[in-house]
Amino acid sequence: MTDPRVLVVEDEQDIQELLAFNLTKAGYRVDAARTGEEALRRIREAPPDLVLLDLMLPGIDGLEVCRLMKAQPETREIPVLMLTAKGEEADVVAGLELGADDYVTKPFSLRVLLARLQAVLRRVAQPATDDGAAPLKVHDVEIHPGRQEVTVAGQPVKLTHREFLLLHTLARRPGWVFTRNQIVEAVHGDDYPVTERAVDVQIVGLRKKLGAAGEYVETVRGVGYRFKE
Ligand code: CA
Repeated sequence: MTDPRVLVVEDEQDIQELLAFNLTKAGYRVDAARTGEEALRRIREAPPDLVLLDLMLPGIDGLEVCRLMKAQPETREIPVLMLTAKGEEADVVAGLELGADDYVTKPFSLRVLLARLQAVLRRVAQPATDDGAAPLKVHDVEIHPGRQEVTVAGQPVKLTHREFLLLHTLARRPGWVFTRNQIVEAVHGDDYPVTERAVDVQIVGLRKKLGAAGEYVETVRGVGYRFKE
């Protein structure tokens, strides 16, 4: 397999160079763009395996680049790892809902950034064999969608229907961050809408019922929740 190609989209030259140097050292082929327009052109000309996308760009910003990528069938599947400034949780939420895969907050540690990047590439490389009906085992949590049953370390745990859907949604993609809105869309019933606030309440209930395994349900401050990888 050839080395994955990463397009680094960043207008600040020192960060751009730092990323290019370290990604190359880590075995990636690196391409670079300084503006949103340039990024879109490069993506069209030579689709990368992943786009490392700074959100604060001159001209078309990172969110718009992400939106335009996800609107095109040819570029929709390319994973996006966002680079965001501290305190930009609203942009992170917007980006995730546009289809970005994950994010790293500046100032970042290179070790963390490389780990996230690798995790995103690993997740997208996994064949989509999970049709949502197959039993799932993550850590010591077993989920049986057909029977709507959950066990933790072999012990059955009684959940409400929505708690079950919530757990199943998160645990099907360990490590992925879900925004509250994405969770609402995943668990909402036909009878009444679930609100984002209700998600927080259900998370509290779910954690309690899972006991020690409740710690796998992680809060991502200002953004949403994820199941521990
Ligand atoms: Ca920037």
